[in-house]
Amino acid sequence: MHQKPDADAMGSSLALYHYLIQKGHDVTVISPTNFPDFLKWMPSSELVLDFESMHEKSMAALQHVDLLFCLDFNHMGRTKNMAPILEDLKAVKILIDHHLEPQPSFDYGVSDTTAAATAQLIFETIVKLGDTDLINEAIAQCLYAGTMTDTGSFRFASTSARVHRMIADLMDKGLKHEIIHQNIYDNFLENRLRFIGHSLLNRMDVFYEYNTAVMAIPYTDLKKFDLQTGDTEGLVNFLLSIQGIKLAALIIDRNVEVKLSFRSKGNFDVNTFARKYFEGGGHFNASGGRSSDSLEVTFNRFVKAIEENEDALQ
Ligand code: 5GP
Ligand code: MN
Repeated sequence: MHQKPDADAMGSSLALYHYLIQKGHDVTVISPTNFPDFLKWMPSSELVLDFESMHEKSMAALQHVDLLFCLDFNHMGRTKNMAPILEDLKAVKILIDHHLEPQPSFDYGVSDTTAAATAQLIFETIVKLGDTDLINEAIAQCLYAGTMTDTGSFRFASTSARVHRMIADLMDKGLKHEIIHQNIYDNFLENRLRFIGHSLLNRMDVFYEYNTAVMAIPYTDLKKFDLQTGDTEGLVNFLLSIQGIKLAALIIDRNVEVKLSFRSKGNFDVNTFARKYFEGGGHFNASGGRSSDSLEVTFNRFVKAIEENEDALQ
């Protein structure tokens, strides 16, 4: 899975784990970094190795690997410190992903950019292998979580009839969907809500002439509110709720580098935008990138970039 995994990366990986162990395989799930606390309810999440903090155990597992499944990312760089090791691995590499423009580092795989989530592709893979009967409640919970979060709770344009049919099938497997919503969205600490209030009040800029809203978060805010991995997830979506806004950006100083998140409505392509200006990528309406400049310089570069895209933002 990709670094700082979200519910789709973790859910896809753990769903595949719960499928493959039933087929008698010896499976290890590795995350390049730690993952947010709000994903700890996922069945067997306690078995996931964090490549950063459990380096030796992860390296030992990688030494014996026959099949390497690469889930929810399109190029090895998204696995951070694991990337050079994965590139050199002799194992057969299988990509299952829905991001645009995958790199040719993989031997086999599914790259379906029309899929709403990688979780959907894991579901369809299991079904196509004739193993629908092996989809148990644990798999259903993991796949639901990944799809729910990647579709913004089933509201983005990617939420197809195919997605709803899968969800119906998962409910037939005993899925209690309201529990998943509570586990993910009603499981934060007070400080996160206060941080959101503070950010909306003090860190938001709206450029009506470019139909763009942006939030730039200094590292001192992350410290002040004692934010943990995953606490800023979803924040960028608030900006899209302003009438007329087509592009939303969240720019966060993570101390070592500045990370950017982009969301758009309609025909503004943030995959291309992130690639062109901020060494990133992702999907047409949701993407991310990075910058080695300071928060202020990155913010100014962003403003210049939207000026250059004035026509497309109308
Ligand atoms: P988020 O804003 O939630 O971190 O990411 C939105 C989407 O863009 C996700 O699908 C994520 O995988 C992708 N993404 C985020 N950051 C990067 C990046 O630095 N590079 C690339 N290629 N994709 C990214
Ligand atoms: Mn995904």
